[in-house]
Amino acid sequence: MQEENQVYFVDSDQLPLAALERKHRLEQDPSFRTNHMEYMDGMQVIESDIKEKVLKAMDEFSYDSYTAADVERALSKESCSIEDFKALLSPAAAPYLEQMARKAEELTKNHFGNTVYIFTPLYIANYCQNYCIYCGFNCYNNIRRKKLTFEEIEHEMEVIAKTGMEEILILTGESRAYSDVTYIGEAVKIAKKYFKNIGIEIYPVNVDEYQYLHECGVDYVTVFQETYNTEKYETLHLLGHKRVWPYRFDAQERALMGGMRGAGFSALLGLDDFRKDALATALHVYYINRKYPHAELSLSCPRLRPIVNNDKINPRDVGEKELCQVLCAYRIFLPFAGITVSSRESAAFRNGIAKICATKVSAGVSTGIGDHEEKYEGKEEADVGDEQFEINDNRSFAAMYQDMEQGGLQPVLNDYIYV
Ligand code: SF4
Repeated sequence: MQEENQVYFVDSDQLPLAALERKHRLEQDPSFRTNHMEYMDGMQVIESDIKEKVLKAMDEFSYDSYTAADVERALSKESCSIEDFKALLSPAAAPYLEQMARKAEELTKNHFGNTVYIFTPLYIANYCQNYCIYCGFNCYNNIRRKKLTFEEIEHEMEVIAKTGMEEILILTGESRAYSDVTYIGEAVKIAKKYFKNIGIEIYPVNVDEYQYLHECGVDYVTVFQETYNTEKYETLHLLGHKRVWPYRFDAQERALMGGMRGAGFSALLGLDDFRKDALATALHVYYINRKYPHAELSLSCPRLRPIVNNDKINPRDVGEKELCQVLCAYRIFLPFAGITVSSRESAAFRNGIAKICATKVSAGVSTGIGDHEEKYEGKEEADVGDEQFEINDNRSFAAMYQDMEQGGLQPVLNDYIYV
């Protein structure tokens, strides 16, 4: 393994001196870091102008220039243009949150009825070769690392499936060395035995690899861009493949080219200017929809959460009101898109937002590795891997199902049949 790809999964105080020096230099000296806009060997380049369109719109977005009149005009129209969407994301729209919520609710009902999908994520490995400074799985963070064996994966899936869940999202840290595409593909084949709908959230791969994973049984691919601001991105992702911003940006498009049915998009709100990141995320979906109209597209809206060894990480200026504004604006601009609200948010917020614009919620969540039996069935803590971040809403599948029903919604576990 080349020195530049060497990863040390131990406490940073115990790192070999060379690695410690390298970590500090990566943090202190931008010239020591690789060019984040340059593809690395093996990364497929596809023909697409969506990046340029999104970056240009984000660059030109001067949200303080929008007025109450712009917001009122946006709310009065049947269909929402990009300009209207920008007005709805602006500070001028904050006093109109109730009107936005009412319009969003109506659109959600028109497109999705009163349904809400429930799924659960399953982390099968937490090895990661990237150094994202805000994430608990980063290669320099001192956590317990684990990669599940196929027997353990099957066991975890059995435990989850017993609850009645029919959709699973399989996640790994981003390490080809520890969780290669074949390992993920085999995990997906096991998942096929227990679940009807399978998503993955893994490191971005090339079209042929997405095709292989689709053949193994993957329905959709989620990739978080984290922040669309390339300069900010550079300062947060200091090492590893994830550092390459454009390769990550094109991941959903490569996944669709590889035959996937759907793709999920997101910025991690709070990393940078959340209004600009929200604009970029939605435009990413908008342009992909125009190019691939058959694809099922969805948005997530994670905010930063505290991590192991750093509980001070928090979404700075994105409170629940701001998050609600962003989600209502997403719904009004993209009425057809799924919106997922994860367990990073509180139970009260998720109960409320599911009635307005969210279409999918997770339940029975653990972001640790191999601990579903312990969490679901009260077994002793076994040899498990640490969590990626602390979750906020730890309702079980049964509790979530019940709460959604009590809120007047119809929980859906799967709505897709292959013929
Ligand atoms: S955000 Fe993803 S890629 Fe970055 S350190 Fe965490 S698991 Fe690895």
